[in-house]
Amino acid sequence: MIISDISARLERVAALPFDYAAQPTRPIDACNLCGGTTLLVLTHHDRYGYPATATGCTGCGLVFLNPVMTAEAYQRFYDGVYRPLVSAYHGRLIDATTMQDEQRAYAAERADLLAPFLAGSRLHTLLDIGGSTGVVAHAWAQRFGLRAAVLDPAPLETARARALGLETIEGLVETVNLGSRRFDVVALCQTADHLLDVAGTLRRVRELLSDRGVLFIDIADFRAAYLRTWSVEDAVKIDHPYYLTEPTMTAYLRRAGFEILRMDYASDHLHVGYVARPGTPVPDAIPSRDDVRDLWREIRFVQNAPRS
Ligand SMILES: [Zn+2]
Repeated sequence: MIISDISARLERVAALPFDYAAQPTRPIDACNLCGGTTLLVLTHHDRYGYPATATGCTGCGLVFLNPVMTAEAYQRFYDGVYRPLVSAYHGRLIDATTMQDEQRAYAAERADLLAPFLAGSRLHTLLDIGGSTGVVAHAWAQRFGLRAAVLDPAPLETARARALGLETIEGLVETVNLGSRRFDVVALCQTADHLLDVAGTLRRVRELLSDRGVLFIDIADFRAAYLRTWSVEDAVKIDHPYYLTEPTMTAYLRRAGFEILRMDYASDHLHVGYVARPGTPVPDAIPSRDDVRDLWREIRFVQNAPRS
């Protein structure tokens, strides 16, 4: 991208009525995956130019924003800031309407991945966590004969989901009260990176999933993101508290008690999807030393590459 385009982009972002530096944040002292306390500061600003600091756990390779906005700050962020921010960054309108085609294609691709596990399986209910406008939940409900509910913090988006005839629950999975409800299929589509507590959420999802249930979750692979533009800063954005990789996501799933049935490198060359079922928790699962060493070595290499 040429320099005038980059400065126009940053000007559009700077013109938004949102002051990241004034938002309440909390510091993170211990890794959410392994509990490690030796942290490595990787970057000092994000792709929008906000002073957001990405930090890595030297023990397991988990990367996360530190400090990170509080849950209340993120609730306000999703209620009116997030979509205008992404629109300003890309220089085109991205909202509940314009996303529909992209989401339909996303839903169809993942439905093909899930079909061997859902078609004819006599599973009845679906909870789509972070389900936005409900396009994905609606498509899967129709294809697999599921009763679907969408959980999302953005009221404008859940209103769209309601219009599709779906049950909607406004809130964040970390704080919403679902009582003793359980679901046969739980989906977190393009949502894991947005969570505030991945370990806690996956433990909660494990409780929400019925014994024969199926989980679908995907990540925006951090390595794919920084290799795409050869910039770690460009891969960091305040909407993502976490920057997951195949080794960290696999360890998270095993710790929470999920057995991975199938993995998928999405056609966008960014997302990695996982189909999993309840299994026995492996509380000390952790990426290998080689995986962690390779990650830091690669990040250092990308950060020090000459700029054109
Ligand atoms: Zn760690």
